Amino acid sequence: MRIVLLGPPGAGKGTQAVGLVEKYNIPHISTGDIFRKNLKEKTELGLKAKEYMDKGLLVPDDLVVHIVKDRLLEEDCKNGFLLDGFPRTVGQAKALDLEMNKLNIVLNGVINLEIEDEILIERLTNRLVCRKCGATYNAKFNKPKLENVCDVCGGKLYTRDDDKVDTVKNRLKVYKSQTLPLIEYYEEKGILATVNSGLDSKKVLAEICKILE
Ligand code: AMP
Repeated sequence: MRIVLLGPPGAGKGTQAVGLVEKYNIPHISTGDIFRKNLKEKTELGLKAKEYMDKGLLVPDDLVVHIVKDRLLEEDCKNGFLLDGFPRTVGQAKALDLEMNKLNIVLNGVINLEIEDEILIERLTNRLVCRKCGATYNAKFNKPKLENVCDVCGGKLYTRDDDKVDTVKNRLKVYKSQTLPLIEYYEEKGILATVNSGLDSKKVLAEICKILE
């Protein structure tokens, strides 16, 4: 199964990714996670990406595309993969098409998670992430059992630098101008399905699986 998850920041791509990779036994490829890991390790790529991430801007295509291309060549992607947060521009989508053509593979589906802006801002500005395993919580709607401690692994929870309200607003603006055109791009290819992700996350997952099967 080869899936792309589309949708604005905060739409629940990360949450749905967890369920989908488990169901289809495929690797979860999140370009945001790759940048954050690089930043933690203070690599050149991580430090360069931070300049854009902190402002809520997209990292330039040339820095992103080759990471994904290399990742798709790894052994665990042979039977499929889930792309979360990539592609985010038409240029990235075209580069992905080219690479997939070379590998003689196609996408099974592009799932567009749709949700209202007000809910997104509320979700993102209250989001807490585990430093160790990446599990996400919400300080208002989905609190961990112990304050600031991950239920899954006991890791410490933190607020992402780019989840501050001004950066969030900028990320939504950037999404609308640079990523939204992908909806038309994949609609024309006949592989896009839109799901209302304002519902309970388990219902959203069931809906996505129904579409993919
Ligand atoms: P995410 O975790 O997917 O919300 O990504 C966090 C940030 O990483 C984004 O706001 C961008 O700055 C950067 N980023 C992640 N994926 C991409 C991508 N495909 N293209 C450009 N920038 C990206």
